[in-house]
Amino acid sequence: MSAPFALALHGGAGPIRNADQSAEIANMTALLQHGHTMLQKRANAVDVVVEVIAGLEQAGLYIAGKGAAPNRDGVFELDAAIMDGKNRNAGAVCALSGFYAPIKAARAVLENTPHVLLAGTGAAKFCDDEGLQRVDDPQAYYTPVASSLSATDALAHGTVGCVVLDQFGDLCAGTSTGGVLNKMPGRVGDSPLIGAGTWADEQVAVSCTGQGEYFIRAAVAVDVSARMSYAGMSVDAAAVGALADMERQGGDGGLIAVDTQGRVAMPFYSHGMRRGAIDAQGNVTVKVFR
Ligand code: ASP
Repeated sequence: MSAPFALALHGGAGPIRNADQSAEIANMTALLQHGHTMLQKRANAVDVVVEVIAGLEQAGLYIAGKGAAPNRDGVFELDAAIMDGKNRNAGAVCALSGFYAPIKAARAVLENTPHVLLAGTGAAKFCDDEGLQRVDDPQAYYTPVASSLSATDALAHGTVGCVVLDQFGDLCAGTSTGGVLNKMPGRVGDSPLIGAGTWADEQVAVSCTGQGEYFIRAAVAVDVSARMSYAGMSVDAAAVGALADMERQGGDGGLIAVDTQGRVAMPFYSHGMRRGAIDAQGNVTVKVFR
């Protein structure tokens, strides 16, 4: 029997109530199946996370990648992170402007620098040096999902993320976002911050979505792992406990997590969260609301 493997993804905890989500559901289902095929062929967790998140970024259906919203100055500043649980290597970019696939930039930071997080113009220069593909015409490329929202949805959001357990028992988590709507220039959320919005180690991989300020204050992603280590909790109980702590501070949102047995948790404290998972047998679950 082959080793267990599992894949989960999210498209953000800010779906608009009553909106048709069929395109998002079809996109998430296709990416889960694609990732499953890769894992069956013994792809490693990092490759699968990058592939799935790049697919979510390109879809233009979420507030990440092509669907990202501009900040108050009309500039598209994006954040992304990836963490390899096998060795705790991590790479991230924040307030990055001008590139198609922030998750690939995060991976390049992981693989080709001694650093974890590059910001702004320094990050962009690094991406140019790495030969990453630029967005030539931002106004033409980005199709802000957010343009359908009103200004009163001040902190509406819609990050994407992916967590994977591969056949070798290794875990990886990644997250990519355009951040929250109407954000100030230079604002950075939890997604690219290792331990806040993204975390992977030997026992669990976590990707969060929600109001980043609250996830940073509660260090939600690493708190899932801490609860498993120190309190012996299951991934489900740890995920719910970490989120509940964040919610007590006044935030909302959710997370996806997978452990070394391929057990997936996808709890959320918000009216919905676009989410999906596929197990080693190919059983798919995709949901948006409860
Ligand atoms: N957590 C993201 C941020 O605050 C937004 C989101 O998850 O939708 O940047």
